[in-house]
Amino acid sequence: MALIVQKFGGSSVADAASITRVAERIAETHRAGNEVVVVVSAMGDTTDELLDLAQAVSENPSGRELDMLLTSGERISMALLAMAIRNLGVEARSYTGSQAGMVTDEKHGSARIVEVSPNRVRAALDAGAVAIVAGFQGFNRGTGDITTLGRGGSDTTAVALAAALGADVCEIYTDVDGIFTADPRVVPSARKIDRVTSEEMLELAAAGAKVLYIRAVEYARRHGVTIHVRSSFSRNEGTLVVNPKEGETVEEPIITGIAADLSEDKITVVGVPDVPGTAARLFTIVANAGANIDMIVQNTSTSDTGVADISFTLPTSQAKSVLDALEARRADIGFESVQYDDQIGKIALVGAGMRTNTGVSAKFFTALSDAGINIEMISTSEIRISVVTRADIVNEAVRVIHHAFDLDGESEAVVYGGTGR
Ligand code: ADP
Ligand code: ASP
Ligand code: MG
Repeated sequence: MALIVQKFGGSSVADAASITRVAERIAETHRAGNEVVVVVSAMGDTTDELLDLAQAVSENPSGRELDMLLTSGERISMALLAMAIRNLGVEARSYTGSQAGMVTDEKHGSARIVEVSPNRVRAALDAGAVAIVAGFQGFNRGTGDITTLGRGGSDTTAVALAAALGADVCEIYTDVDGIFTADPRVVPSARKIDRVTSEEMLELAAAGAKVLYIRAVEYARRHGVTIHVRSSFSRNEGTLVVNPKEGETVEEPIITGIAADLSEDKITVVGVPDVPGTAARLFTIVANAGANIDMIVQNTSTSDTGVADISFTLPTSQAKSVLDALEARRADIGFESVQYDDQIGKIALVGAGMRTNTGVSAKFFTALSDAGINIEMISTSEIRISVVTRADIVNEAVRVIHHAFDLDGESEAVVYGGTGR
């Protein structure tokens, strides 16, 4: 008997018919003699619709109330799914995040899991039932309040439960057949990857491949959970995200895939005094404004002016508070001005084989240049090269690079559902 965690994303439970279809699959896994824990997201685009509603009544809603609102989405789908499974003659019980023992810190909107005590889930399994847990939510012991784990957080709930219960596998069911060499909505010729290391998947997720949420991949890596990403609309084998042990060799392609991200903006601080300690002061201001910055580029200062320009990228949602914080300290730091650019896109090429192969960057930049695409910023890790370009040519750039690195599959990738929102 195996213990299987199955997570179903919003597009897999978008309407009553989908919920029934998913219920049949879960009942089948249970009837085959497995213990089944299900994690479910809100139906379709419910979370986005609830966010729109919140914006319509308040420009700056409180984090506590926003979490209260958003967690209602998963509550609807978990109860409906439990009903649908029971309708098939299999006992099923649904649990909110707090009932399932998902304890988090108190950071509304992006809480971190600090403890998982799934006693009620374990008891439901012992009683022969399927346990259904609302994804994306937890609670904080200190405040007693409900929290959410950040967009896409149901993936993290699933992995955390799989780790806490010692599950054999954590299956993430979505609207495509697995992890592809690029987003199949952007590159229809993208190829499905059979196996990817968590190290490579972390880079892809960090670079915007929303098929798996970065914190879920991090958690799986730390706790040794094997993730299987697959479609709830087909029976095809998906992609295994594996954690190779120290010294174990896995066959690593030079390039694993390409990811793109349109959710970031660029800020340039112009005319920064080129003296020791300025960058430290600038980025302390940025950090205190609560921003997660990504790429940083400082131009070489020309000796006669004694000033430099520093550019960095950050999530759009954090730009305003950083701009305000910088402006407030302009005289004090002594820079000239701040420029803001909300029309950038980031593209990342990821592959563990880059470590041992030369010429990858040259090929990457040549492909972009042949297509007449200008590179505005560059950053690299051991297994990733990222560039910033204009936002409106990002999808075109991804297709060009995908082709240049011969990543195309034999057939067109299938997108079974979802709105891509
Ligand atoms: P769910 O609702 O199941 O959580 P998401 O919308 O969060 O689904 O994630 C699935 C989507 O991720 C796919 O429909 C696809 O458009 C997108 N995606 C982005 N990059 C990739 C990739 N490399 N491989 C597969 N899907 C990707
Ligand atoms: N419903 C949440 C979201 O849309 C969590 C998730 O689906 O993973 O972000
Ligand atoms: Mg998701």
